[in-house]
Amino acid sequence: MARAKGLRRLVLVLGDQLNLDAAAFDGFDAAQDAVWMAEVAAESTHVTASKPRTAMFLAAMRHAALALRAKGITLHYTRLEDAANRGSLAGELAAAIERCSPQCLVMTEPGDWRVRTALEGVAAAAGCPLEIRTDRYFFSTLADFAAHAHGRKQLRMEYFYRALRKRHQVLMEGDQPLGGRWNFDAENRQAFGRTGPQGVPARATFAPDDVTREVLALVDTHFADHPGSLTSFAWPVTRVAALEALRSFIAERLPQFGRWQDALWPAEPWLWHAHLSAALNLKSLSPQEVVAAAVAAQRAGHVPLASVAGFIRQILGWREYVRGVYWTQMPGYQAHNALGATVPLPEFYWTGDTPLVCLADALQQTLAHGYAHHIQRLMVTGLYALLLGVAPQAVHAWYLGVYVDAVEWVELPNTLGMSQAADGGLLASKPYIASGKYIERMSGGSLCARCRYQPALRSGPAACPFTTLYWDFLLRHTALLAANPRTALQVKNLARLGDAERAAISAQAAVIRSGDLP
Ligand code: FAD
Ligand code: SF4
Repeated sequence: MARAKGLRRLVLVLGDQLNLDAAAFDGFDAAQDAVWMAEVAAESTHVTASKPRTAMFLAAMRHAALALRAKGITLHYTRLEDAANRGSLAGELAAAIERCSPQCLVMTEPGDWRVRTALEGVAAAAGCPLEIRTDRYFFSTLADFAAHAHGRKQLRMEYFYRALRKRHQVLMEGDQPLGGRWNFDAENRQAFGRTGPQGVPARATFAPDDVTREVLALVDTHFADHPGSLTSFAWPVTRVAALEALRSFIAERLPQFGRWQDALWPAEPWLWHAHLSAALNLKSLSPQEVVAAAVAAQRAGHVPLASVAGFIRQILGWREYVRGVYWTQMPGYQAHNALGATVPLPEFYWTGDTPLVCLADALQQTLAHGYAHHIQRLMVTGLYALLLGVAPQAVHAWYLGVYVDAVEWVELPNTLGMSQAADGGLLASKPYIASGKYIERMSGGSLCARCRYQPALRSGPAACPFTTLYWDFLLRHTALLAANPRTALQVKNLARLGDAERAAISAQAAVIRSGDLP
């Protein structure tokens, strides 16, 4: 790369910042400024990234690079396979500063504390000012959340969400929620009956073009020993494809989204979910346009209010809330381990090879597609790790590695706070715990009917490991759960167990924890 003469700004664009209308481009002058992007191995190895996740990021980056070049913008782009690639974002940025001698660096807020501090460190060492600008691809700023959190004893998604609905006038009539309610869970969140899902729309797929095919081949060779498969890779990796994914979701899935939001069925990964998280997190879509499209469909009478409200709660509520939690709590947040969990993550999380049918189903589709829907993440893979007592940092490394939508600001609070209850109740008001009977109910019995275990049994050779571990969890954390009004009732059920059964449950849980299944 030739040394740029008189470079004013070098605009840094990371793999999750692919919107060309980002704040970092405000005031961009193609005559004096340039853009820097780098594909580096460390982003796929600091936690072991699955092949679908790495391919998602690299394919989207290469398409964004083409769009930048088409606009006549000078781009300093390092490819993964470049011989001089230093292998880390910090190394590549240092090299770019040495080559280009920019007067300053500009970027939009990154999505990861580790990356932010690394790049700030490089800029400081090089004596090059780094300006970090507010990310407009959120409804709230980090300062908004900090102001909301200030002085509160408890953080709760609900309060922040309602404030955002009011401020942005989303599904509102004046200061009242449209339909008179904030929450439509009673209509939403149903379980499938025994006949299962009917008429699931085909997933919107995007056949890999030449650029993506090149990335898939690169990832398959460069990260040959990483988990996951690329044979069914069909994610939207361009802005145009992301818009088509949004259009098809609104037209075909959103009407039933709320109703089946929590339901499970074997070999049905996609159901009525949006599959938009990766496009949102890489900034191929803005949350504002996604919410606007959903509201417009409701206004036009195409979608029931309950479904739209359920969907908007996820984007305007959870998505904004977890980002605020992440940035106000980092860097200490990632070290929390309130339940003192120390068990290693079972090896089968990386292979999907387990006799627990619900887990095998969720894990195998995760490795095949880099995707699982929320209830699979929270109440199957996450629940099992929680009940088993896996170290939350090991669970975090897995979730950050495997999903195509995984960026730390959204993954870490969901994993450590919501799923593993490791933050002492900061993010969520209770641990999400259940026995195998929950999975049986939400899948209309379909998963358990294919399984060698029985969800109603607490101990013995046919007992469902989720159920054994659930009761063992109640026994291990009785005092904590009894003190929480949202879990006190679950603890009361322990009174039904005699001493002999308690001992049998504890002994069987210890065996499962050691890696042996009944
Ligand atoms: P849908 O179910 O259709 O929801 C619509 C959109 O709402 C999603 O695209 C997403 O942008 C947003 N959303 C829904 N739930 C959440 C939530 N809890 N937090 C933030 N946004 C939400 N989401 C990620 O984007 N990246 C992650 O790395 C991630 N890791 C997770 C780890 C665990 C342990 C859990 C329990 C959840 C995690 N989630 C993560 C949240 C959620 O599971 C995914 O956003 C969702 O499954 C993505 O699929 P979808 O686009 O079909 O979502
Ligand atoms: Fe999962 Fe237990 Fe049902 Fe088997 S019996 S599918 S392990 S919940």
